[in-house]
Amino acid sequence: MELKCKVQTYDWGKHGIDSTVAILMKSSNSDFILDEKKPYAELWIGTHPNGPSHMKELNISLKEHIKKNSEVLGNNVQKMFDQELPFLFKVLSVNKALSIQIHPNKEQAKELHEQYPNIYKDANHKPELAIALTPFEALCGFRPIRDIQEFLKILPELRAVIGVDKVLKFMTIDEADPAEALKTCFHSLMTCDPGIVALQLRKLLDRLSNLDESLRHTLHASLLERLYSDFPGDVGCFGIYFFNYITMQPGEAIYLGPNEPHAYLSGDCVECMACSDNVIRAGLTPKLKDVPTLIEMLSYVCEPASTKRFQPSREDECTEVFRPPVPDFAVAKITIPPGRTSYNIIPRSTVSILIIINGKGEIAPSKVLNRGSVIFIPANEEIGIKVLCGCHPMLMFQAFVNV
Ligand SMILES: [Zn+2]
Repeated sequence: MELKCKVQTYDWGKHGIDSTVAILMKSSNSDFILDEKKPYAELWIGTHPNGPSHMKELNISLKEHIKKNSEVLGNNVQKMFDQELPFLFKVLSVNKALSIQIHPNKEQAKELHEQYPNIYKDANHKPELAIALTPFEALCGFRPIRDIQEFLKILPELRAVIGVDKVLKFMTIDEADPAEALKTCFHSLMTCDPGIVALQLRKLLDRLSNLDESLRHTLHASLLERLYSDFPGDVGCFGIYFFNYITMQPGEAIYLGPNEPHAYLSGDCVECMACSDNVIRAGLTPKLKDVPTLIEMLSYVCEPASTKRFQPSREDECTEVFRPPVPDFAVAKITIPPGRTSYNIIPRSTVSILIIINGKGEIAPSKVLNRGSVIFIPANEEIGIKVLCGCHPMLMFQAFVNV
C-alpha cells in the first residue's frame, strides 16, 4: 500500500530541483508542483502529528489505518509500543546548517514536556540514524580534548570569548576526566555576551583571510566562512572547534544517541528516529536557544570522529542492515545491482516502510514503484520486486522496528 507523505519546507533545505526531497516527490506524485524557489528540506514518513502520512488509495491517515488494523504492526510491536508506529522515517536535503542540537533521553523528554509543554511539545526521546545519499557533512560529538586544547592555543579570539581563567584551567585538565572542565568552558562560550562573540568572530575571519592555505585548512577556515555567511555573529560558528567535523560518503552512517551534540551541515541523507520532534537547540539557528537545558544535559564525552561512524551488518548479497542500540527502529539498505531482474525483500516480523531512492520496479499485483514511491508493508509480508530498469543499481531503504 502506497503512502502519500508530507514535505517540510524549512529554510535550510535545498532549493527546487537541487533537492533530493523535491526530486523524489515529483517522480512519485503526479500532482506535485515543483517550485524552484522553495526549500524542500524534509520528507516525513510516519504518523507524527507535525507531518502525518496518508494511505494513497484509502484516503485515510496511516495512523488511522494502523489503529483499525493493529495486527499490521506485528506482535512484539503491538505489545511494546502501545499500538503505535514507533519510528519516523525521513529524507533530508540540507543546503545550510541545521541548528547545533541535542535530543533528550526518555526520562528527560518526559520531564521537559511536563515542565515546559509549550516549548517541548513531545514527550518521547529521539535517537537518530543518518545514512548519506550524497557526500554529507556534519558536526558530531565533542572532539578529543587535545584537539580542543590545540585550537585554544592558536585562537586568541576563542580564548577571549571563553575567558582567560577558564581557558587556563582547561589547558591543564586531567585528560581521563575532562567532563567538568569542558562543561565550564563550553558554558562560558555559550553564555558569552553576543556583542563580544560577534566582534571576535569578525576578528578571526579577518585574520583567516590572510593566512596561508595549510593553516586555513587546519583552522577549517572555509567552513567557518560558510557558517558565518549563513549565521552572522552566531556563537555556534565557534562550535566547529569543539565538535568533530565529519564527512560521509553515500552509504556511510552516523548514529546519535541521547544528549550527543550534532549539527548537519550539508548534503542529502535518509534519516530514521524514534517518533519524536524533540530538539534542544544551541546555535546556528534563528529559533529558540535553550542554553541552560543544553548545558545540563549535554554528553561531555570526548572521542575522535572515527568512533561516530555507524557500521551496518550484511544480511545477503543485496541487503545491509543498520541496527542501533534502541528497539524503536532499524534501517535496511537494499541495492539491486544492474543486470539483476528481481529480488525478494527479506521479510520482517514487524511493520516496515520502504522508499525507492533510485531505479524503477514492480510489485504484485502490477504496482509500479518509481523513485520516491513509499510503500507500507505489514509485518511478515513477503514482497518480491521485479526490476523494470536494470541499467543502474536500484537503491531502496526499509525502516522497520528493531525488536
Ligand atoms: Zn538531531
